[in-house]
Amino acid sequence: MAKNENGERADDRQIGHATVLGGVRGGKYPHGNSLLVEGSEESLIIDPSLSLIGRPPFVPAVDRVINSHCHEDHIAGNHLFLDSPWHMHALDRSGLDSLEGMLEIYGYAGPSADYFRKALVDDFHYTPRPDAIAFSDGEVFDLGGVTVRVIHAPGHTRGHCCLAIEPDGVLYLGDIELTSFGPYYGDAWSSLADFERTLAAVRKLEASRYATFHHIGVLDSRDAFVDRLDRFTAVIGSREQRLLEFLREPHTLEEIVAHRFVYRPGDAVAFADSVERRSMTQHLARLVTAGRVAEVAPETWVAR
Ligand SMILES: [Zn+2]
Repeated sequence: MAKNENGERADDRQIGHATVLGGVRGGKYPHGNSLLVEGSEESLIIDPSLSLIGRPPFVPAVDRVINSHCHEDHIAGNHLFLDSPWHMHALDRSGLDSLEGMLEIYGYAGPSADYFRKALVDDFHYTPRPDAIAFSDGEVFDLGGVTVRVIHAPGHTRGHCCLAIEPDGVLYLGDIELTSFGPYYGDAWSSLADFERTLAAVRKLEASRYATFHHIGVLDSRDAFVDRLDRFTAVIGSREQRLLEFLREPHTLEEIVAHRFVYRPGDAVAFADSVERRSMTQHLARLVTAGRVAEVAPETWVAR
């Protein structure tokens, strides 16, 4: 561990042409572990994090910035690379146009939107970049002796992507973060159904190392990855099961939100209500479609 002005920073780790730039607190939110990839012709950085600010001894110069998706913690260090082009999937790219474009991804309203607009600028150094370049699934960045290939993996956001680094066998998973919290699909631009398809698809991807942005960091074997991924995926079913149990008695959406299925009751999380509402509305909708939950009065549901 090395000292950074923000606190303890995890050591860097080199894997072939890729270097995991260790984040503060191991990359726990709002920090993260960025990935530097260096070829013989070009270099690029994936998801420049808050931990790069004030980083000793240097912030590497790069030819390109690649973002796995448009969330505040993944673009917080983009402003350190103003002379390089920024790249993001076409479905998230509008978040770099303007603050308002960024806010659409989350879907917060009223005072929450005002609070978050300020946090994006003050805490996450939001910098508009209307000339950011859109990429799509399958696109390859050839850096000379090493390539970075885009794998569209939506659900967390519409444009969320994984990145495969070859020949080093590194699969960068972005916010398929494999923590015990489970998958996050609580924003306006999140989709539970897409996330489940993505989890099934990603499970088939062969790599020798699997890198996450947050504190799980790098997993060194496919077995370790599959084990973590399965437990991560199971959190979705566990949220749904707890919802069904809660709905043995009729409840309104606001009671479901207050009960807390994504966060723990009492967790002091800004926007928790919004995230619970968006997440559990998606569970409710599919349980209604499956005939397992019925709306017995306006905005009031019960399991059957
Ligand atoms: Zn994210």
